This record gives sequence, structure tokens and C-alpha cells, in this order.
Amino acid sequence: MNWQVTEYVGGNPMDGQSLVIVGTGEDFLASGGGHDVDLVTCGRLRQRQCTHLGFDAAGTRPVAIADVRDSHCLTVRHNGSTMSLGHPAARTLVFVHAHPDDEALLTAGTMARAVAEGHRVVLIVATDGAAGLSSAAFAQDLAAHRHAELSHSAHVLGVHRLVNLGYPDSGLTGQVEGGFATHSVFTVAKVLAAVVDEESADVVVGYDPSGGYGHPDHLQVHHAVRAACVLARKQVQLFEATLPREPIVRAVRAAVTLHLTPSDFDPAEFAHAWTPAAHITHRVNVRPYLRQKRQSLKAHASQASADGTVRTLGVLARLPGAIAAPILGTEYYVRVAHSSRTTSGVSLPS
Ligand SMILES: [Zn+2]
Repeated sequence: MNWQVTEYVGGNPMDGQSLVIVGTGEDFLASGGGHDVDLVTCGRLRQRQCTHLGFDAAGTRPVAIADVRDSHCLTVRHNGSTMSLGHPAARTLVFVHAHPDDEALLTAGTMARAVAEGHRVVLIVATDGAAGLSSAAFAQDLAAHRHAELSHSAHVLGVHRLVNLGYPDSGLTGQVEGGFATHSVFTVAKVLAAVVDEESADVVVGYDPSGGYGHPDHLQVHHAVRAACVLARKQVQLFEATLPREPIVRAVRAAVTLHLTPSDFDPAEFAHAWTPAAHITHRVNVRPYLRQKRQSLKAHASQASADGTVRTLGVLARLPGAIAAPILGTEYYVRVAHSSRTTSGVSLPS
């Protein structure tokens, strides 16, 4: 059953004040409550936001809630009885990524896990991905393909809200005129902070200072997310998605030794990529969510190969199960301490 929040009775629902919601559907009418029910939320519902409440009792019995897809902790008062819904520690997490497919590669398991544990997950993707490599089958209107792929990925991960900022992909060398990386950090940060404020986010996830492997759009995400967290009205916990540097450097060296890399490839490029393992503060176990992570990777079919060569995403999406778990089963973050604000104790699942 869909319930639509139509009107605030008064004040800030964060303070436990009432909202009036209007329900539709026979179950609601059969519950004998009329059209108006007091809904008190300790999360934040926006006006006109739909929640999905399944009532399994009819008539004058106390209302029980069978299914709450809104991830915030809710308390419903009806016919004099009160009950709590949802995860009492539910939080809103905002993940910011540069390109469609970065969410699949870096944070998909964490997102699926957070959704499964009752948190609200918002995904912001900055660019259209139009400068990415792809096979010829997707080359025509690549941005449209990548938009559809991202929507599918967000769906399989259970993301509650997907925000496409639609900046042009800057390209690996920043060659695209007007690309995302050419916009001022402050301009982008204001856009991000607006979403963070709208969502009253508790956790924001950006990129490490290396921008991973140094793509200009990833560096822009790093800087803009840090600035957005300063601009946000509420203090947030900032985490930066990364990978442990050392095993990647070892793998790259092995690939060079085996002549698997192009002749002009310089492994020294990776000497400063990602983050030294000792600096990683959070390792999130996502092994129970590998099915969703694989579906997310496979959703980005345009990125699986290019010009007949298989790309990283294509390899990862097809890893056999026994190998996939050790490679895809952990996601890595560095928690960034706030110097000017006190911490609130909100954390990623660990
Ligand atoms: Zn990217």
C-alpha cells in the first residue's frame, strides 16, 4: 500500500512532532482509522515522499506493520496504540561517484549491505560517462547506454534515490572541453551539499586524495565531496572509498612482467594510486552481498570490453565464485576526521 505524506501538522518531524498522512487502498479504509493517521518519525520524511506500509490487521484491532520500505525508524500511533517501525539506528548514506560503473567497482557491496540493514542509500553520479571506452556496439549515444546501465545497477543494489548530475565526462586526460573536472570545486560542492541537506545525510562517501588511479573526474569528486561536507548544514561522517595500494602495485608489476600491458604503460603511475593499506580505517565485509555486486557489475555491459580487449569490469563481473569472494568480498574506506566539528558516532557497517 502506498502512503503519501501530504501535509505537515507542525514543526520538524525530527523532533517527534506529528505528520498527517493520507492513505489509499482498501486495507487502510478497513482498518477503521478514517483517512488521517498520526505518523511520528524519528527519521525525516519529506513532504509528498511515499512510504510503503503494509497493514496486516483490519477493523479495530491494533494496527501491525508488516512491511516498511522506508528505511527510517518510524512510530505510528493509531487507535490509541503506538508502535515502532524500522531499524532504530537507520541512517542515510550518500555515495558520490564520478562515472556510471564506479559504484559497481568500489562500493556496490557496501550499498547493498546498508540497504539490507535498513539504511537509506542515495547514489549521486557526477558525469554521463560519455568519454569512457566501450565496444563498438555501445559507441553510438554512449551516454544514453550508460544512463540506462546505471539505473539498472542502482535498482539491483536497492538504492533508494539515484541522482544523475549529468556533467560531461572529462576523459582520462581531461581532454573534454567543459568536462566535470573543469567546473569549480565550490560550484560542484554546493550541488552535492544541497542533496546532502535534502537527505539530512549522516554518512557521505567520496574518493581518496589520489582519486584512485588519478582520473581528473575522480580527483574532482574527492575535492568537491570534502567541500560539500563543510557546506552541509548538519555534520556528516565522511568516508573515502579506496583500495589498498600494495596488492595493486604487485599485480601491476606482475602484469608488466608477463607483457600483459601496453608497451607505453608505466607501472610507476601506480606508485601513488589509491591508499597505503596501513591508512585504511574501514574494511567492509560484503561477501553476503556478492550476488548484488555482480549484478551491478554486469549491468554496465558497455564497460566490459573495448576494441576487442576485456576491461577490468568485464573480468571482475565474470570471476568464478571461489575467486570472486577474496577479490570482491571486501570494500575499503578511510574515515576522514573533522577538525572543526565534533563527531556524532555514526558509522558505516563494519
Ligand atoms: Zn570513474
